[in-house]
Amino acid sequence: MEQTFIMIKPDGVQRGLVGEIIGRFEKKGFSLKGLKLLTVDQAFAEKHYADLSSKPFFNGLVEYIISGPVVAMVWEGKNVVTTGRKIIGATNPAESAPGTIRGDFAIDIGRNVIHGSDAVESAKKEIGLWFPDGVANWCGLSQIAVFLNL
Ligand code: UDP
Ligand code: MG
Repeated sequence: MEQTFIMIKPDGVQRGLVGEIIGRFEKKGFSLKGLKLLTVDQAFAEKHYADLSSKPFFNGLVEYIISGPVVAMVWEGKNVVTTGRKIIGATNPAESAPGTIRGDFAIDIGRNVIHGSDAVESAKKEIGLWFPDGVANWCGLSQIAVFLNL
């Protein structure tokens, strides 16, 4: 089953949006497989955003991500990478549609509340980085209920 890495950035945590954001993924029907609140250091943030290291906004982005605790999550379900990106909305909140997380809760591209993996491959890489000990293994009736859309 497909998985994606979702992170509520420090502004989202500080503004009290954790419950709202988790609720949107839960109500959509995706399964929560990993969840932790943590503050990462500069080296870790640079690794997470390594692909963007040549961008002019890279240093500011790293400063932003290490500025406070973040909520790191793994969500699972059919097409969760692409659908997760739709739930999150466009990178620049000025262009994010109303009804998306960034469209509803953000104004600035540099404070856009949430991260989501952009492809299945990057999701695997990010989940490995943030959850090196693996994620929860659902079993039993609750998982069957999710699969059967009960
Ligand atoms: N970002 C920024 N300025 C830009 C582009 C991106 O500050 O001009 C930040 C923004 O927080 C964004 C993050 O860098 O979420 C990662 O950029 P990416 O292009 O991967 O966007 P995302 O995948 O988060 O939508
Ligand atoms: Mg990205």
